[in-house]
Amino acid sequence: MSAAAGAPELPFAGWEGIDARRAARLAKLGIRKIEDLLFHLPLRYEDRSRILPLGRVRPGQSVLVTGVVELAEMAPGGRRGRLLCRISDGTGCLTLQFFNFYPSQRKRLHPGVRLQCYGEVRVGAVGPQMIHPQWRVLAPGDPVCAEEGLTPVYPATEGLNQASLRRLIGGALKELMAGRAGAELLPQRLREELGLPTLLEALRLLHAPSPFAAVTEIMARRHPAVRRIVLEELLAHRLSLLRLRSQQLAKPAPRLLGAGELLQACLARLPFQLTPAQVRVMREVAGDMTQARPMLRLVQGDVGCGKTVIAALAALTAVEAGWQVAFMAPTELLAEQHYRNFQRWLTPLGVESTWFTSRLTSTSRDEHIRRLANGEIRVAVGTHALFQARVDFPRLGLAIVDEQHRFGVHQRLALKNKSGAQDVQPHQLIMTATPIPRTLAMTAYADLDVSVIDELPPGRKPITTVVIPDSRRGQVIERIRHACAEGRQAYWVCTLVGESEAIQAQAAEVTAKRLQESLPELSVGLVHGRMKGAQKELVMAGFESGQVQLLVATTVIEVGVDVPNASLMIIENAERLGLAQLHQLRGRIGRGEAASSCVLMYHGRLSRSARARLGILRQTRDGFRIAQCDLELRGPGELLGIRQTGELQYRVADLARDADLLADVQRWAALLLQDYPDRVDALIARWIGEGERYAQV
Ligand code: ADP
Ligand code: MG
Repeated sequence: MSAAAGAPELPFAGWEGIDARRAARLAKLGIRKIEDLLFHLPLRYEDRSRILPLGRVRPGQSVLVTGVVELAEMAPGGRRGRLLCRISDGTGCLTLQFFNFYPSQRKRLHPGVRLQCYGEVRVGAVGPQMIHPQWRVLAPGDPVCAEEGLTPVYPATEGLNQASLRRLIGGALKELMAGRAGAELLPQRLREELGLPTLLEALRLLHAPSPFAAVTEIMARRHPAVRRIVLEELLAHRLSLLRLRSQQLAKPAPRLLGAGELLQACLARLPFQLTPAQVRVMREVAGDMTQARPMLRLVQGDVGCGKTVIAALAALTAVEAGWQVAFMAPTELLAEQHYRNFQRWLTPLGVESTWFTSRLTSTSRDEHIRRLANGEIRVAVGTHALFQARVDFPRLGLAIVDEQHRFGVHQRLALKNKSGAQDVQPHQLIMTATPIPRTLAMTAYADLDVSVIDELPPGRKPITTVVIPDSRRGQVIERIRHACAEGRQAYWVCTLVGESEAIQAQAAEVTAKRLQESLPELSVGLVHGRMKGAQKELVMAGFESGQVQLLVATTVIEVGVDVPNASLMIIENAERLGLAQLHQLRGRIGRGEAASSCVLMYHGRLSRSARARLGILRQTRDGFRIAQCDLELRGPGELLGIRQTGELQYRVADLARDADLLADVQRWAALLLQDYPDRVDALIARWIGEGERYAQV
């Protein structure tokens, strides 16, 4: 997927000392061309520009010093003893301490020899000391090798030490100065408006700062030199998504025009009225689908805001216009839930839907494929099984994708290419299973138009959330007894993150048994991922009808369960779950008339981050706020579940930290496309590579 796998584009041609082995090591650091060396920024700096008199060294400083060896002796300590060496320069003394050393080194450290040392000063038994400093012997008459500026320390990797990195990056800087690498791609207008330096100025400052550079600002990434590079990277990512978008929009899509009869019929049968937010979003979607270019729309909204019905209405619009619909979900369970909703809403209107699941026998699967191919079936729901080469939609007009995390852009495009009608592209409706913070949506989904359902259906009651240790299990059980005695229902969620489904199922079975023993008057049901579909459905139907009062479940109920009478949820080992998952689980309650409570139970001592997570849930129920906190705690890669895929991995930028730049990025991306198209390709090539992390169409 990344450029690494493909042909090397701008290799290190003509550079001495970069053979295949070294190139492979550099690639580990994400460095594949000379320009990448320039953007490999230091982690920190060392000041070897001045020699500090020994009398003035202070603990905690990293300093360059010189002195004459007064004493060198072995002392007990370590495995083979320590070597202690005291140096003095007339203003003070410093003890050097070595645990590992070669005999040859020891021989060179005899009294009278003059040394130059660099290291961190610590408090020693007898005055200041340095443990394992870098050192060299100064022959009589040798000048001290102080550096002219601060010395950068780079992120390194095995087989590639600081000295090599400094040399390579120094070489790249020379190329930059000579105008052979690192062309200036940001227009002067932009730099002046935002008060940012040129690339040359920025990189020279970052790689070779003077001893007086504002190191604190640089390290905090607040310095204009860093901000300039961050801005450039964010711009490149945005431009690449915008380019993808314009490539897609250039293709024709079917205009989905119908009388709207199916849609009206469906609305009339719904047991509720759409919220104003749903109506607005539906209009946006419907408007897109009447166009002769593909819709590229993301529908965002908090858990329970009612996105599924929007998907159903969009599907009906496509069907009425004579086209087919593919609806893709991230998990089987979610696909099943969508399928059940679609059946409930679409079948009475004479629109047949089906779902592709791993549970299908191969005969019925073949049957589905056949009926889809001849157009009898208009709507197919499934997981990425829908991508399977054999599943064909002769008239695919609309692809709906429910994303738990951002699917790779490739996957979505693969679905699009399923269309048998080769001359048109289907419309695309993307729905997010969990809210995404605005900053992240703006960057990760820059290729899409965004609609937000920003209100919940009326009548949702507040949820009180408490965090308690599992030592108070007894009290929690009493609470369940009480709630159920009042005619309400409860969930007990067993979580064993990272365990196999079998182990999770087993744990849930044990819990259900114990709870039944403690609560003999209640009817306790159990669902987990290992149960057969029919068996699971039976229990769920029992819970939905109210016959089952307490439902013990693994996190399979995270999505899709909808029982308004359930107003109490206990989540075991809540400290092990992520914010988004907890929010999603909690979204199962607070749907009915009664006020609801969620008990987050934890085991053992809470870590600091777990305490922060659970605290956020206690404070708010706003999915967007929770997602924002999640972004700050975990970073965008984790949040979007794309860390492994390499998408949206920034080299320098950090969305949580650099969010204030995004408005400028947005505006300038548009300006660049309009006024500086030649720079757009160069920016994308520089930061994303020709391989295009965001798949080519
Ligand atoms: P999500 O946006 O999390 O996918 P769902 O589509 O599953 O939410 O909807 C949650 C529940 O709210 C479902 O039971 C759905 O039928 C119901 N619902 C959707 N829209 C409305 C509405 N306007 N009024 C009342 N209930 C609604
Ligand atoms: Mg949903």
